[in-house]
Amino acid sequence: MLNLSLFARATSAAASKTANSRLTSLSRQFSNTAAIMAPAEKTCDYLVIGGGSGGLASARRASGYYGAKTIAVESKRLGGTCVNVGCVPKKVTWNAAALAEAIHDSKAYGFSVEQSAPFDWPMFKKKRDAYITRLNGIYEKNLGNDKVEYIHGRAHLTSNNEAEIVLDDGTKQTVKAKKILLAVGGHPTIPQNIPGSEYGTNSDGFFEIERQPKKVAIVGAGYIAVEFAGMFHALGTETHLFIRHDKFLRAFDPMVQDAIVAEYERQGIHIHKQSSQSKVEKDSNGRLTIHYKDKDGEGQLSEVDNLIWAIGRSPEVEDLGLEKAGVKQDDKGRIIADDYQNTNVENIYSLGDVVGKVELTPVAIAAGRKLSDRLFGPEKFRDSKLDYNLIPSVVFAHPEVGSIGLTEPEAVEKYGKDNLKIYTTSFTAMYYAMMEPEDKGPTKYKLICHGPDEKVVGLHILGLGSGEMLQGFGVAIKMGATKADFDSCVAIHPTSAEELVTLK
Ligand SMILES: Cc1cc2nc3c(=O)[nH]c(=O)nc-3n(C[C@H](O)[C@H](O)[C@H](O)COP(=O)(O)OP(=O)(O)OC[C@H]3O[C@@H](n4cnc5c(N)ncnc54)[C@H](O)[C@@H]3O)c2cc1C
Repeated sequence: MLNLSLFARATSAAASKTANSRLTSLSRQFSNTAAIMAPAEKTCDYLVIGGGSGGLASARRASGYYGAKTIAVESKRLGGTCVNVGCVPKKVTWNAAALAEAIHDSKAYGFSVEQSAPFDWPMFKKKRDAYITRLNGIYEKNLGNDKVEYIHGRAHLTSNNEAEIVLDDGTKQTVKAKKILLAVGGHPTIPQNIPGSEYGTNSDGFFEIERQPKKVAIVGAGYIAVEFAGMFHALGTETHLFIRHDKFLRAFDPMVQDAIVAEYERQGIHIHKQSSQSKVEKDSNGRLTIHYKDKDGEGQLSEVDNLIWAIGRSPEVEDLGLEKAGVKQDDKGRIIADDYQNTNVENIYSLGDVVGKVELTPVAIAAGRKLSDRLFGPEKFRDSKLDYNLIPSVVFAHPEVGSIGLTEPEAVEKYGKDNLKIYTTSFTAMYYAMMEPEDKGPTKYKLICHGPDEKVVGLHILGLGSGEMLQGFGVAIKMGATKADFDSCVAIHPTSAEELVTLK
């Protein structure tokens, strides 16, 4: 079936002006005819609302693997948060920041690198945007390859087996579905009670910044705030991080919290501890002044080019029509789903950030695929569900942080201190061998083991390469590795990772 919005978008991409206008007029004619002829209602086996990580994975598995007649609806850009305003452009920016660090470090290795111009942020942003646009196209192509019908529009439930989609041209399309997946993700929030807060932006807005700020203020203590702060600083922006308490990454192991806060301070990131903001003003030059209180008292930070609120995310459910279908939400508005991603309404499912269990892309993808296996796959998948235990995650801070399993306080609470053995190490990675003391970063690892057989129940690593390192250790831990298993693996020398198989 021809997708009208696709057709209209194809016209705008046409190279020649004449061809473009001919196509546009054709499109209009077609669209008028189709509007008259369009079936009032479409039907399908599986309607997926939300074309992000979870929705696309589930839709493609249902249709591509099992032949379920599937429709996927997305109101913004295909790929969702991760591809457009999350993991992907973030990691590309992190790569730029890592290169800035490498250029600085290279001098210690004997290179005389002279930068003839500052970092070209506008050029970098343009290329990053183009990369994301390319990915959007690839995602759309993949949907086509898997025979998923893609509709660009905003969907809301009208009953427990029906949704209405407001298409780009304002017309409405009704879809009746045997099963419906709500994979609508979330959006960043900005505080409502601080005058002038609207002069700041959020994590989506970070990716719109056209010029490198000279001075930036970031508010938040979660991984997004910490990643942004590290990247800005590495790229040469004066960076202020406002946190409510004394530490950030407060859900992580205390070793990680202490080490990364100390490291950010050592690097020269301005951390405003125990802080709150009372007012934001826009000055005549367009820059901002932030009025705040922190542990040193009241203060003002002026000449701020960009203020970024990274204070949390809310589920994107405002106009989803959940009440029409009777889908239950928790007190934060998140959709309630059980271990099998079932909501309280039969044949309506939900997963990913809107459920809020573990807000990571691979979690949404895995949950989406498992769900489609269960709903449309063979008998052997009837009980298919994602195991939410032991999910590894990485913070692309400077340096990176990796974590899987329980933190030490969680392990103590679960098993009791006497039933645990904790191994730690702290050292200077060989990468820093050639550097002056002030340029040497920390490396710290912690292995948390439980019981007489010392089963590994938590691993926390901070230092260069942690992001790539954790995945392999994650496999071992997921398989139930013990300390003896770690020790039985011969070290790879010289690496930082070898310290994890030689812990005493
Ligand atoms: C700055 C940032 C960095 C991140 N970095 C990482 C990282 O490094 N690693 C990682 O694993 N995760 C990262 N994440 C988290 C990751 O992006 C999310 O966990 C993931 O995208 C969740 O997938 P999802 O499918 O649940 O939702 P989303 O990807 O948000 O997709 C939901 C989609 O639904 C659409 N939608 C919503 N309502 C409707 C509607 N009514 N009709 C039609 N469409 C609708 C939205 O437009 C959106 O495209 C990051 C997030 C942010 C914000």
